[in-house]
Amino acid sequence: MKTKVAIINDVRDDIEYIKEAGSVIKEGGTVAFPTETVYGLGADALNSEAVKKIFIAKGRPQDNPLIVHVSSKDLSYLVKDIPKVAEDLMNKFWPGPLTIILDKKDIIPDETSAGLSTIGIRMPNNEIALKLIELSGKPIAAPSANISGRPSPTEVERCIEDLDGRVDYILGGDRSDIGVESTIVDCTVEPPMVLRPGGITLEMLREVDARIEIDKALMKKPTDDLKPKAPGMKYRHYAPKASLKIIRGKNEKTIEIISEMLENYIDKNNKVAILTTDENLSRFNKGEIISLGSEKELSQIAQNLFEALRKCDDLGVQYILCQGFEEDGVGLAIMNRLNKAAGYDIIDV
Ligand code: AMP
Ligand code: MG
Repeated sequence: MKTKVAIINDVRDDIEYIKEAGSVIKEGGTVAFPTETVYGLGADALNSEAVKKIFIAKGRPQDNPLIVHVSSKDLSYLVKDIPKVAEDLMNKFWPGPLTIILDKKDIIPDETSAGLSTIGIRMPNNEIALKLIELSGKPIAAPSANISGRPSPTEVERCIEDLDGRVDYILGGDRSDIGVESTIVDCTVEPPMVLRPGGITLEMLREVDARIEIDKALMKKPTDDLKPKAPGMKYRHYAPKASLKIIRGKNEKTIEIISEMLENYIDKNNKVAILTTDENLSRFNKGEIISLGSEKELSQIAQNLFEALRKCDDLGVQYILCQGFEEDGVGLAIMNRLNKAAGYDIIDV
């Protein structure tokens, strides 16, 4: 398949490309596009044949439902009922990195919801994404624009790397601001439940509705008794090719253990990357040392996380040693992604 790539520098000047990509969606094709969370791979959410192409292009498991992206808050044609909490959350956080789960109407095919009676919906806060949805005239189903299992793309180059030849169109824009996928809140249950942590933190959600709880299975390795409620959260995800290990604890001890492990791996002729913070950068003098940002700005660390994992793959390292972060605010989303990327290989020190 020939993939057309168009980089949008200015939505007004480059509107013809967005129109063209909108027509591709309308006609049942696939388009990768920027959003503020990560890049998405979209198709017409109401067209089952189009949606199947997303699963094929990504190699995505069939039982993992897609999130539907909209450009307006009028959801009455898509869902049965909008509880007050959903309305309050939409009014507060849309457009933005928050997905709301609601009971779907039959207009949404089973392929999009992976057979569930509910559907995740979000309005992205990105000018190109919103224009694409508007010009296509369709709600757009879109998971992250990567081959399943790999770190999500936050830059257009990474979409091209994974999807060139596998999709119809790639629209490029700026790098993603947030860098981790949307927060998902299930509004069909009492109390409303966070199924995936993301850019909107639990603290921010509880300012809107103090009842909101978090799925207890989220931060632990899934077991038979404790499985995450979002179907996709059980899969290994976001994973670099190298073996990633998280070292978590007090800062000095963490640095000491990472340094020991580093020596050990290098002695055995391994190439090793260290993911750390600006503050700790000078504490290491061997290996490929990459800063995720300042420990005082967790949002920076979230923004850089997936790209750093991909850089490690570019460097061809066998091991990645990454320090852990506090699970507060957006730190919860960072640690959730890191845990999964590491296959829960966490060393508490
Ligand atoms: P992605 O599009 O790759 O960010 O993945 C979408 C995530 O949303 C996956 O973890 C899905 O399991 C989850 N999700 C989508 N729709 C639903 C739903 N109706 N109920 C629960 N989780 C959902
Ligand atoms: Mg994904």
